[in-house]
Amino acid sequence: MLRIAIQKSGRLQEDSLKLLKESGLHFNNGKDQLKAKADNFPVELLFLRDDDIPQYIEDQVADAGIVGENILIEKEKKNELIRRLDFAKCRLSIAIPRAETYTGSTWLQGKNIATSYPNIVRKFLKTKNIEAGIHEISGSVEIAPGIGLADAICDIVSSGSTLLSNGLKEVETVMTSEAVLIASPNLASEKKAVLNDLLFRIQSVQSAKNNKYILMNCPNEAIEKITQMIPGMKSPTIMPLGRPGWSSLHSVVNENDFWKKINQLKSYGAEGILVIPIEKMIV
Ligand code: ATP
Ligand code: MG
Repeated sequence: MLRIAIQKSGRLQEDSLKLLKESGLHFNNGKDQLKAKADNFPVELLFLRDDDIPQYIEDQVADAGIVGENILIEKEKKNELIRRLDFAKCRLSIAIPRAETYTGSTWLQGKNIATSYPNIVRKFLKTKNIEAGIHEISGSVEIAPGIGLADAICDIVSSGSTLLSNGLKEVETVMTSEAVLIASPNLASEKKAVLNDLLFRIQSVQSAKNNKYILMNCPNEAIEKITQMIPGMKSPTIMPLGRPGWSSLHSVVNENDFWKKINQLKSYGAEGILVIPIEKMIV
């Protein structure tokens, strides 16, 4: 039984559960519980505050977990980063009052920085050779300069609108973050096997998300060029159409260069292009 800790409530909760469900794990009870057992896979979920997850893993109360990379780095516990999960993307930034003129990181010399990430800020200041006070607070960091608690803050930013509404501006990015799957480095072999099985499933879900199934009609003379452009997983499937000189071609295309390729396909004479989401992709 692999015990996986996920956030009890907050920004990571929904997407963490969604990823596990898309990986084929089925849970009966909802998020009001503190624990949930999958009924079709040897996994038990523990619902915890994200800050506590690295410690639980170090203490081997949990075997694995999903947290923001920011929490993983801040907590400095015996946790191994297993995989980046492509959600909860944000950055940890330093912000100062908008009226101030930022002259580079030396502006921070001798100032006071309010943050929930003292270890990360300490390391950042060290790399910049700057001495500044660090004032640790656990929430509502962005009001600290306004109430005279600090000169600057270091906090999570995604759109920047919270900073703006508190009269602050972002001046340094300290790190970027996304949700990560972490685990204890000392898992027993049977737990390790379950984790590897889960990881394989997660990879299939992630590749499926990054790729699309694409079908089109094309003139036979374009088949070779199109095959080179979208080779798919091994090679495209090609079937003759009822109309002489034409074929139906099926392949897989990466989400990122999708639009660029569509224009090229059209220029090769492809018609009736259909693009279909893939649910799982086993490469
Ligand atoms: P908890 O009660 O579990 O301690 P919390 O209030 O500390 O929750 P959340 O605000 O739910 O944490 O954020 C959890 C994680 O989600 C953060 O550590 C960060 O990695 C990520 N995150 C936070 N804010 C954003 C955002 N605006 N956009 C994207 N990701 C974010
Ligand atoms: Mg937290």
